[in-house]
Amino acid sequence: MKINRKVISDRELFEKSIDVVEYLVNAKIGLQISKGDNWCNFGGIDKIDSKKMYLINLSSSRNSAIPRYTALIHELGHILYETPFTPIKKLLRKWDPQTYWQDTSHAVDLYHTIFNVLEDQRIESQISKSYLGHKKRFEKTRHDLGKAGFGEYSDMENPAFGLLAIRFMRDDLVKNTKYYYIYKQALDNVEETDRFGALRVLISIKDCIDEFLAKKESSKQGTQNHNLKTKLDQETNVFTSLSEEEKQEIIKNVERNFGSTLSEENRRKIIAQAEKSKKETYDTFQSMNKKHNPLKKSSSPDFSIPPELNKEHHSQDEIRELLKNGKKEGEKQHQEIREKLIARNRTDNTPPNVKKILRPLSNYTIDYKTAKGMNKVFKLLKLRSQSAIDFSGSQIDINEYVENLTKGTNLNRCYENRKPDTGASIIISIDASSSMISDQKIIIARNLVGTLFKSINGIRNTEIRGNIWGSNTSGEIGITEINNIQDVKRISIGSDLGNSYAYTPLHMGLEYSMKMLKEMRGRKKLLILITDGFPNYHRNGDSIPNNIYNQQCKKSLQKVLKVTPNVICLLVGPEHDEIKRIMTNIFTSKRFIIVPNMQKASQNIVKKFRQFIAKNVQNPF
Ligand SMILES: [Zn+2]
Repeated sequence: MKINRKVISDRELFEKSIDVVEYLVNAKIGLQISKGDNWCNFGGIDKIDSKKMYLINLSSSRNSAIPRYTALIHELGHILYETPFTPIKKLLRKWDPQTYWQDTSHAVDLYHTIFNVLEDQRIESQISKSYLGHKKRFEKTRHDLGKAGFGEYSDMENPAFGLLAIRFMRDDLVKNTKYYYIYKQALDNVEETDRFGALRVLISIKDCIDEFLAKKESSKQGTQNHNLKTKLDQETNVFTSLSEEEKQEIIKNVERNFGSTLSEENRRKIIAQAEKSKKETYDTFQSMNKKHNPLKKSSSPDFSIPPELNKEHHSQDEIRELLKNGKKEGEKQHQEIREKLIARNRTDNTPPNVKKILRPLSNYTIDYKTAKGMNKVFKLLKLRSQSAIDFSGSQIDINEYVENLTKGTNLNRCYENRKPDTGASIIISIDASSSMISDQKIIIARNLVGTLFKSINGIRNTEIRGNIWGSNTSGEIGITEINNIQDVKRISIGSDLGNSYAYTPLHMGLEYSMKMLKEMRGRKKLLILITDGFPNYHRNGDSIPNNIYNQQCKKSLQKVLKVTPNVICLLVGPEHDEIKRIMTNIFTSKRFIIVPNMQKASQNIVKKFRQFIAKNVQNPF
């Protein structure tokens, strides 16, 4: 029997995508596919596990321009980026106090529709920022919807239509309308903003909307007796066939293009074709309007709208401020989600005997002279390099993310860049066994790492991270990750909870570093280890004999060498024959240096670091 691979992988993709969002927002998300629109509903908090409960409905219609997976990601986006369906519903009613109680308030309807267009743009931009794969998906869908030729017979001045046309890349339809540039700006303004972003932008264009509403109101009164049928058609959105004028216009155009008169039969064909396409256009537009009217169908947790957004009038200055804050808060939210994603994957991969710990905070001193000197060199190198690699603009490819999640490996590989896998990644891995306290070794190490972070400041295709490790008698290994300059303060001995990790589990220092290096994006990778004695590891209260443990460390090094040949181990302390023998045995003399004290080690690392960057970043591969 033939297995439909496509269906199976689709299903997996659906489940995993839901799974990721469930984790991120602490929710349970049900999915159903049935007739009707796409929507998502908030169903309250589960009393047992306090998770939020959501239900997503995806339209079972097969002939939609919106692929089902794209629709799913869109709905998940509403959940992940917290679309305030319910609070907005309440708020917008207040915007039209005279008629809100009538179900047919045109004003409230229009505000809703516009909010919805803006909100869709917002969530899709937020998702696109993280997931390159989805960016393409959304863009294609928007383009396809626009190409369906909706609205050639619509009221172009309608702000909802204007926004939708721009969103669907049909600027050509509305370029000449009064507020085209305002609406275009509005869609820009709403991108990558926080959960109130669409409301912020709605407030900023409310005057234009109200102007349109007022005009419509007066024209309705003025023409009440004329053209009643046409008016009714427009109001109730009933499809009308092509008028005689429209038909003539079409024939005229075709004849002009061909430069000859059409036969009666060809005219009939062309009119039939045009009629069909108008119907399709109309259906698409209708379904587009209906398909996603989440304010009617969807709901969310009810949270309060900040007072600065919940008032009647806003000055231009206030509006500017609102928009600015939206972008700021949006970026914050995006970062939070990104960090959660990274943390999740890490936890899943960590061996059971490794405990991620925090260590006591301690201050460090940056050697600004060194940092500045190195930074200058790096900047020069960057200028010379041809590449324009954007390391900050990280984008996760969800497909790859999902795949890696199942395999349990290598999350950072899903961070796509325009030029992936270029640049340099460096790990500084530090032994935090108890002996590192003496002679200020740990203090100097901390200062050194701080200085290195400082030196790559603004050097975009270079990334440093680090880890600090030790183990206890039962074999538990405490590891602290250094992922940014704030974490440098955590380079210290001991743990926040007071547990002692006094031994030197070099094998895990190596393997954990390997894991981090694998996750980093640079194609050229460097591992610098700092230790002050030979490795020693205890398990279940017993010391592992040196010869056995050294073999283990050698194996771990072999694993690292598969990721990068650039490994250097600095042993800080006086030369000691036995230690030298053990370490040379593990690392070979090529990768192992003894330095008499931490100051010397520090200088040595700066030198190595500089050489490495110079060699590998100057000509970026
Ligand atoms: Zn939506």
